Amino acid sequence: MEADLHLHTFFSDGTYSPEELAAHAAQQELAAIALSDHDTMEGCERAAKACESAGIRFIPAAELTADIAGTEVHILGYFLDAHSVELVGQMARFQQVRQDRIKEMAERLQKLGIPLATEDVLAVANCKAPGRPHVARALVHSGHCKTPDEAFERFLKKDRPAWVPKFKISASEAISLIHRAAGVAVLAHPGLNKVDDRIPEMREAGLDGLECFHTKHSGPTAGHYVNMASRHNMLVTGGSDCHGMSKGRPLIGTVRLPMRHVEALAAKAREYNPAQAQAT
Ligand code: AMP
Ligand code: FE
Ligand code: FE
Ligand code: ZN
Repeated sequence: MEADLHLHTFFSDGTYSPEELAAHAAQQELAAIALSDHDTMEGCERAAKACESAGIRFIPAAELTADIAGTEVHILGYFLDAHSVELVGQMARFQQVRQDRIKEMAERLQKLGIPLATEDVLAVANCKAPGRPHVARALVHSGHCKTPDEAFERFLKKDRPAWVPKFKISASEAISLIHRAAGVAVLAHPGLNKVDDRIPEMREAGLDGLECFHTKHSGPTAGHYVNMASRHNMLVTGGSDCHGMSKGRPLIGTVRLPMRHVEALAAKAREYNPAQAQAT
């Protein structure tokens, strides 16, 4: 009995609908999943319904982008209250930043001689929380790149010519926003961000857990973060970070978190909000 606690749908930069995601989860015989779209929880209600029909436990979540000492980090909020007025308002702000950034990236590409209209990218994205993967897909659709990877390598990676820095809240602001919306705050894929020396500081700010298991973490990297979580008395989570079909098959279910960690996460959520977490 295992869980995959890091998944995206077409409400951000994934390609599956919430129902398709739940169907894949059932096929993978997952006991629990969390939907953690970037800066939106729009897919959570539909995913919850589809999971309920399939007998899968569902955890509402979101992945927020934050900054610590000039480095971008992603903070996952689990068991978030999707109706929190403050959270909904803040996510609307982050979505606007994302939409403005798409326009800036399209303008940079145009200056590089690539006639990609902002509207073309927004049409490909067709969501409120567009991101670089949508620009990459639009570059592939228009024939300017062969693969999304090529688009990132040539144009979209940090410091590449069409990369635009993104406004971010601080990690401690993200953590307290998550807590105020009754959520549990977990540092996503720490192995990708190289902020180990900042983890004690984030722990002080209330960070509850580390995403030790992730598609891009090797075995030793996962072990390193499990040790660190244990040293700092933090929760252990994990997920595939599936964005849909990738290189011939979806990632969902390729990272499998033992259910005892989901129980610990739910217990922490009950500390923050006894009423809400009971229901899930
Ligand atoms: P954004 O939120 O617009 O900055 O885009 C970040 C998203 O782009 C991540 O969540 C990943 O889904 C994806 N991504 C980041 N780096 C790469 C890369 N080098 N190749 C493919 N996808 C990437
Ligand atoms: Fe993403
Ligand atoms: Fe991420
Ligand atoms: Zn993600």
